[in-house]
Amino acid sequence: MQEVLFSDARSTRLAAVDRRLTDVIALSATRQDRLSPAHQLVLSMLGNRTYDHQSRAAYTQLLAAFGSLENLSVAPAQSVMPHIAAVNFADIKAARIPAALRQIRAAGDDLDMTFLACLPVSVALSWLGSIKGVGRKVAAAVLNFSTLQMPALVLDSHHLRVCARLRIIPEHYSAERAYDLLMPLLPAHWTAADIESHHVKIKILGQQVCHHAQPKCPVCPVRALCPSAGVMAQTHTDSALARAEMQNVTEPAVLTGTVSGRQEDTESGAIHARCR
Ligand code: SF4
Repeated sequence: MQEVLFSDARSTRLAAVDRRLTDVIALSATRQDRLSPAHQLVLSMLGNRTYDHQSRAAYTQLLAAFGSLENLSVAPAQSVMPHIAAVNFADIKAARIPAALRQIRAAGDDLDMTFLACLPVSVALSWLGSIKGVGRKVAAAVLNFSTLQMPALVLDSHHLRVCARLRIIPEHYSAERAYDLLMPLLPAHWTAADIESHHVKIKILGQQVCHHAQPKCPVCPVRALCPSAGVMAQTHTDSALARAEMQNVTEPAVLTGTVSGRQEDTESGAIHARCR
């Protein structure tokens, strides 16, 4: 009974945070350029531990170099490597991405993964997770961001950090454990698109305000809902800058293409508000 109450409280807080972020972050309504599941898989594998603009550039280079995912699937790692050198763990990814594509082809003769849409989300996640190098984050991205548009929450490091500080999940949970805890807490009426926009909003909050080292609690739009507000060491004193950044979050011109793109550029500090 106590666990149910805790669950209800976390679910209520999660929904309230989402509503608050909806008030301050302007997201475009729909993504226009969804990739096929196989293409999304490649992009998301490239994106592990890598800034989004770098993985996107590497993905574009791969396609230009090999012409198709079929060609990429039979490419040796040493020929893939030069095209993705800018992403982290490029040597590992150069081997794993073609191998993953070969594994998919071996299972179904081609790279058509649309059959996943016919499976329960949990089964589809397990199928994707059986591919070497595909963790829960990449698997969820394939289901949610691609043309499949299935209800699976993508949990990146920003999402895990923010939800831990909001006391919705315990600290240091893996993406897998956090996913299993968070998914049942999402409002039952949320669609795949709602789940995707929730991911984008939490990620923006993590990138712009709830930084790893110096969360800007004084200007955080969800501080009234956050048990960690003001608890953590506050060394960030440039509240004027922080406020300006949050105003950028609400600026539609800056966020044009938010859900229709695929990347968020965290390096420059500018909000492109695009998701992988
Ligand atoms: S109040 Fe502080 S700790 Fe809580 S979400 Fe906002 S920035 Fe993060």
